[in-house]
This record gives sequence, structure tokens and C-alpha cells, in this order.
Amino acid sequence: MIASTGDQPALFVATPAPPPAESPVTGVAFLGADPAASDAAVIGDGYGWLADALPAPAAPTCPDCHRPAVLPAAAPVLWTCPHCHPTEV
Ligand SMILES: [Zn+2]
Repeated sequence: MIASTGDQPALFVATPAPPPAESPVTGVAFLGADPAASDAAVIGDGYGWLADALPAPAAPTCPDCHRPAVLPAAAPVLWTCPHCHPTEV
């Protein structure tokens, strides 16, 4: 015997779900929450905590005059010798 849809109507006839009743909110509403606070917590401080934990880097010496190099304000990741390259500081 082959079953027809009439034999098991519950499998094929969807009954609409009852309208949601007023229920307590059990979590943070996604659209209602301001993401600024959580975004700031996720982003952090850009590894500033790591820079604070580490000692200041030792300045390399200039290969020409052997004086300590400095970190220019315009490009803080590059070292330069203020004696040999005064325009780069
Ligand atoms: Zn130099």
C-alpha cells in the first residue's frame, strides 16, 4: 500500500504558529543595543597594552657617525641619525 498525503496530514499541512506572546527578553536585543561599547571592547587599544608592557626599543647607532639614531615624529617606525640626516628628524 502506498501512503498518500491524506493519510498523514500533519506532515504536509503547516499550521500557522501562534502569535508570540509577551515574553521576557532573555538576551541583549541585537538591533536595539548600541554596538559602540562592544566594538570598543573587541577592538581594544590597538596593542597599546603591549607597547606599555615592553621596554622602549634601544636606538640603533648610525653606521656613518656611530651616534644614536632617533625616531622622527613624522615617521615613528623609521630610525634616522639627526647628525647625518638633519632634515629627516
Ligand atoms: Zn650619523
